[in-house]
Amino acid sequence: MEEKRFQKRDEGFVCRKCGRAVPPNGVTSRDHCPSCLHSIHVDLFPGDRKNPCGGLLVPVSAAPHPKKGFQIFYRCEKCGKTHVNKAALTGTEPDDMNEIIRLTAKPMEE
Ligand SMILES: [Zn+2]
Ligand SMILES: [Zn+2]
Repeated sequence: MEEKRFQKRDEGFVCRKCGRAVPPNGVTSRDHCPSCLHSIHVDLFPGDRKNPCGGLLVPVSAAPHPKKGFQIFYRCEKCGKTHVNKAALTGTEPDDMNEIIRLTAKPMEE
């Protein structure tokens, strides 16, 4: 069961890293770019858009999730905080699996 604070917020956006016009996913919340996997630091809890930071979230590592496919670990370029997103493996334009696999080879450094 997902907690209620995990709001679904499925919106298209233009990726600030690679410039790709990313459409809404349709199945899950679109919170990162499917090509380069970068995201923007806008949530305190997923979907709430309550974080004033707005920095670029750089994917640093990925790992298989016991129930949900993969999770991607981020570090914010601006404030240095870490963040985790669920990989979007279904829906419109799912994540680039090669990028995710490439990230799983990288250890999460603290
Ligand atoms: Zn991108
Ligand atoms: Zn930040």
